[in-house]
Amino acid sequence: MSRLLLVSNRLPVTLRRSRSGNTEIVKSSGGLVAGVAPVHQSEGGLWFGYPGEHVDKAAREVLDEARYVPVTVSASEMRGYYSGYSNSSLWPLFHYFIEHARFDRREFEAYRTVNERFADTIAERAMPGDTIWVHDYQLMLLPRLLRERLPSARIGFFLHIPFPSSEVFGLLPQREEILRGLAGADLIGVHTYDYARHLVSSFRRYLGVFGHEGTINVDGRAVEIAAHPLGISVEDVRGYAYSSAAENRVADLMRDMRGRQILLGIDRLDYTKGLPLKLEAFRTLLSDYPKWRDSIVLIQVAIPSRTNIESYRAQKAEVERLVGDINGAFGRPGRVPIHYIYRSIPSAELGALYRVADIAVVTPLRDGMNLVAKEYVAAHSDAPGVLVLSEFAGAATELGEAIRVNPHDVDGTAAALNQALEMPAAERKSRMQAMFRRVQGNDVHAWYRRYRRALDRESTTDITLPERYSPESLAEKIAPALRSAKRSLFLIDYDGTIREFVDDPAAASPTDETLSALEGLTSIKGARVVIVSGRGRELLDDWLGDTDVGLVAEHGLWFRLAPDQEWNRGGHRADQAWKTYVMSVLDEYVGRVPGSLVEEKVASLVWHYRAAADDLANWQARELANYLEEFLANEPLEVLVGAKNVEVRQHGLNKGTAYERIYQEIGPFDFEMAIGDDRTDEDLFAVVPSDTVTIHVGPEPSRAGMSLSSPEAVRIFLRSLTGLVRR
Ligand code: UDP
Repeated sequence: MSRLLLVSNRLPVTLRRSRSGNTEIVKSSGGLVAGVAPVHQSEGGLWFGYPGEHVDKAAREVLDEARYVPVTVSASEMRGYYSGYSNSSLWPLFHYFIEHARFDRREFEAYRTVNERFADTIAERAMPGDTIWVHDYQLMLLPRLLRERLPSARIGFFLHIPFPSSEVFGLLPQREEILRGLAGADLIGVHTYDYARHLVSSFRRYLGVFGHEGTINVDGRAVEIAAHPLGISVEDVRGYAYSSAAENRVADLMRDMRGRQILLGIDRLDYTKGLPLKLEAFRTLLSDYPKWRDSIVLIQVAIPSRTNIESYRAQKAEVERLVGDINGAFGRPGRVPIHYIYRSIPSAELGALYRVADIAVVTPLRDGMNLVAKEYVAAHSDAPGVLVLSEFAGAATELGEAIRVNPHDVDGTAAALNQALEMPAAERKSRMQAMFRRVQGNDVHAWYRRYRRALDRESTTDITLPERYSPESLAEKIAPALRSAKRSLFLIDYDGTIREFVDDPAAASPTDETLSALEGLTSIKGARVVIVSGRGRELLDDWLGDTDVGLVAEHGLWFRLAPDQEWNRGGHRADQAWKTYVMSVLDEYVGRVPGSLVEEKVASLVWHYRAAADDLANWQARELANYLEEFLANEPLEVLVGAKNVEVRQHGLNKGTAYERIYQEIGPFDFEMAIGDDRTDEDLFAVVPSDTVTIHVGPEPSRAGMSLSSPEAVRIFLRSLTGLVRR
């Protein structure tokens, strides 16, 4: 039976040695555990993670019982892997806190070692058919390490923190290794479309990997990148918020806080949560809106977190100083404006706080999702409350009825709090109900169902590594089918397929070998040979006008399928207006990369950098393609990354649509073959009938079924084939 193997840094419980020397089991806190625990409960598989330092025999039994598999990590490894690389490099960087990030190679080594330990532990227990779901930033190398050990496993990855803009991600010294690690997964889930966009653009920029509609192709495998916002378990939250213990606490709190509106903050004590700015906004509220001074109170719970990291200790000191300042300035006996709690609280207490709070103040500076916002909505929906929510929390994309704030704008946040305090009950209620329906509709079960469906879906791309042939063996294989065909069609790309690339694209005129290979083919009875090229028609005419081959220029803008015909236009109107802007961008790159040049065609502009192809030029090409893809996203244009060129061309013109026209004009055929070497040829491979002989030139993955190594191999293949068929 197929099982679900969950993997996260920590298990949902941590084992500690108590003062009396026994093992103590403590529930781990945080959004990941809250989100994933219900999945473990319902799926019944295994959960791999770090159990804490103290695993004795009794503890092992407890873990076994809960289907938790401990991954052993020593205290010193934990320092490098967890406190170090995970929480002092990745965490601050991914939350845009560059000033808190440090990059230490030894810590990365520990990170890699621990990721390998996870991979080995999982590989030992995995069985064929298991689905593996890896969670979060501590384990970003793991998908690839698992793929190496378990090549056919279905592997999902979910990132619970933001994925930053590619500019910021690019600061990471190990950015390529991290991306390659992630690409071992079949599906990479993130919380929002923005994070997905950033991830795709990092793949483009730093690995030169391009994709389509959220699917990228890495080493012949399809990797899907998709937004799946995490939800909460509404029934669990309501369960603890309406328990009898919570009821008692609600009554106590109502009595203690009588006559005052309660503002509530629940945050791990982490600099990303923006506690100092929240406190500043609260101070501004008290000073600029004095009418509230006697009638509001802020209950701020700060959950201890990563206390061995200096930036966290500094944050705690600053928060406590601010709480003291504000209480000192605005408090009086019996009326303390801020009730500050620095500890984890039991769920009944949390539920009671959610229920009594008139306003939840959730103002992180950056937060992958923020479940507290959703829990408040789930627990509080019966009484009219208001959610004040930072626009930098992933949850803001779903909770549009909250009052959205920019937490860096202290005055704006204070004004938002005032607006929340003044909001009439009817408006509070209608906003809250709308959010409740959404939180319930996209709860943790729906989140898992959607993610799982996407993970189980077979990959949608048919791009794989084609079977490699020698020219002679391929000719032997194909000859019988061709011999018995009455009418055959050969669709052949030019550059990189039947003619080698040269530094100056204008100098790639056909060699005698190229011409003789083509002429041999045209001499086969019933054969039609068509060169399907991105080149302009004048050059093709010059080079091949004296042969019997048909010509398609500019990926199907121009056709001349028989030598005695005139050129005629495909269905597309060539619009020129876009060229001015794109040309100015390409000119800029010509200036930057010596030896590169722009070729202008009727429906496209191409930046060629073959003569300059080195690391710098490759880098510039990725940047250019990245830029154009973003800037031309709403234009009827496409950006194509070819072999040492970047091309912008009118949308809808491609070798696939060209095929339709060719077939209409000179078809049908009982044997068809298509040969090509770059991305533009993939459009052709995608549309030809399934029994077509498709050949990719080069070592890359492709839709083609077979491959040859080089243009020379293609020419030898075509000559052998001609010889075998004419014999
Ligand atoms: N929480 C907790 N202990 C507490 C108070 C709250 O574990 O004392 C839970 C809270 O209910 C929520 C999670 O911690 O489910 C915090 O998740 P969130 O996404 O808001 O932030 P994260 O801690 O993951 O950054």
